[in-house]
Amino acid sequence: MAEFDVVVIGAGPGGYVAAIRCAQLGLSTACVDDWKNAQGKPSLGGTCLNVGCIPSKALLESSENYERVTRDFAAHGIVASGVQFDVAKMLARKDKIVSDFTLGIAQLFKKNKVTQLHGRAQLMGRDGELWRIGIVNDEEVRAQHVIIATGSTPRALPQAPFDGVRIVDNSGALSFSEVPRRLAIIGAGVIGLELGSVWRRLGAEVTLLEALPVFIPTADEQVAKEALRAFTKQGLKIHLGVQIEGVKNGDAVNIAWRDAQGVAQELVADKLVVAVGRVPNTQGLGAESVGLKLDAAGRIEVDEHCRTNLQNVYAVGDVVRGPMLAHKASEEGVMVAELIAGQAGHCDLNLVPGILYTSPEIAWVGKTEQQLKAAGVAYRAGQFPFMANGRARALGETTGFVKILADAKTDCILGVHIIGAMASELIQQAVLALAFSASSEDLARTIHAHPSLSEIMHEAALAVDKRALHI
Ligand code: FAD
Ligand code: NAD
Repeated sequence: MAEFDVVVIGAGPGGYVAAIRCAQLGLSTACVDDWKNAQGKPSLGGTCLNVGCIPSKALLESSENYERVTRDFAAHGIVASGVQFDVAKMLARKDKIVSDFTLGIAQLFKKNKVTQLHGRAQLMGRDGELWRIGIVNDEEVRAQHVIIATGSTPRALPQAPFDGVRIVDNSGALSFSEVPRRLAIIGAGVIGLELGSVWRRLGAEVTLLEALPVFIPTADEQVAKEALRAFTKQGLKIHLGVQIEGVKNGDAVNIAWRDAQGVAQELVADKLVVAVGRVPNTQGLGAESVGLKLDAAGRIEVDEHCRTNLQNVYAVGDVVRGPMLAHKASEEGVMVAELIAGQAGHCDLNLVPGILYTSPEIAWVGKTEQQLKAAGVAYRAGQFPFMANGRARALGETTGFVKILADAKTDCILGVHIIGAMASELIQQAVLALAFSASSEDLARTIHAHPSLSEIMHEAALAVDKRALHI
């Protein structure tokens, strides 16, 4: 029976990164994963690579390119006529990016001497100092340490069970072979907005039905307001405060719902995407039989170092508390590997940036204005619009702003909120600033290249002290 220092269960961004880091630190490591691709072949990378972050960004890019050509190029004096798109080619491009990266992880495992195992894994109990891990259709393995990184799966709605054809989850919404004429989405969260944007850009009539009365509640209120305005203007029909009454799946999907005023409504769609959050993957893990503690939401309970209640068993990523994000999962994976190797790993959940890859993009890190108000923290805010930035004007990307929130007394940056082009890239200097407890003055005294979108960050930092230069 094979024996390892560490067995990692799950090869998503939490698990495969943890496995590589363990191996780099000299620990004998195996990573067991049960994902199979559409061809029934093992495919590393978990949700993120197979049906999440990467394929969604591939389609966002393709569809945005199409929209740029058809909507924006005329302003540059570029006349494009007869422009067409080919959904099959877009999907093939997306699939090629995914399979290249999947193979890339297998190569990284080889290079780092991580043993790759395929199958569903289960904790079987202890044998002295070692954990026994059973793998369906494979041998049992043993390990000193176990890292659980089993991720999450889409939450189903009892009224609208997935059939994989008309009522689909994120996987289905990343693979429509043609553009649905009428696309309904239940849940105006991150998946709903990103994938809704993809298909709207390609011509679908997209309606989002959201239960909460507030739009993107995790974002800064002012950003969310600007986003709602921008997305509505683009043609996304977004209904908030909605209650789904019933869904009929036939030749079309008929959704009976009540609007925020309680008025009965009906929506007929060719496809329905249900994107109402995700549930942690703990079924079949053997949690109950080995006494692994779960929290009230069904996630594996962990401390700040991702230690579970069981000795030498850790859990990271979507299967534990905190935002369900790939970079958070990876960072926790690295932390745990370093702790197992006797080093001092840490992962600060306050420094996890959140991003929506819509157009405009939305990105934030740290506290929102509403959180600071609720906590009674005195702060100063500095804001600068994309419209007043030369690079943004040249790009034709003038929607949005950067807002920096700094402690009123210490000037320490507490939160940064961006809506606008390349927010996903701009946010990184804010993450760095928060990680090093920088003040808004530190950012304001840093030289920013001209002309660049990063100057908007600079001006917002200056604006905290009411000394923005270009507005
Ligand atoms: P996962 O990636 O879910 O991987 C878990 C792996 O474990 C899977 O391969 C699973 O099959 C396997 N597994 C489960 N149980 C077992 C078992 N018992 N035995 C063996 N293997 C098992 N996040 C971002 O940060 N940025 C984005 O842009 C982004 N876009 C997204 C877009 C979509 C459409 C979706 C659905 C998600 C997106 N996410 C994004 C979220 C991101 O995908 C997840 O946060 C991330 O994948 C979590 O990583 P993980 O390693 O915890 O789990
Ligand atoms: P989400 O939590 O972002 O959004 C789900 C939405 O569905 C919420 O707004 C919720 O109020 C709504 N909802 C729940 N029940 C409902 C009901 N019965 N009727 C109508 N609305 C209902 O979750 P998601 O969009 O499914 O995404 C899942 C996870 O994947 C998220 O946690 C996110 O972090 C991650 N993700 C991240 C990215 C990114 O980082 N860019 C992209 C996609 C997904």
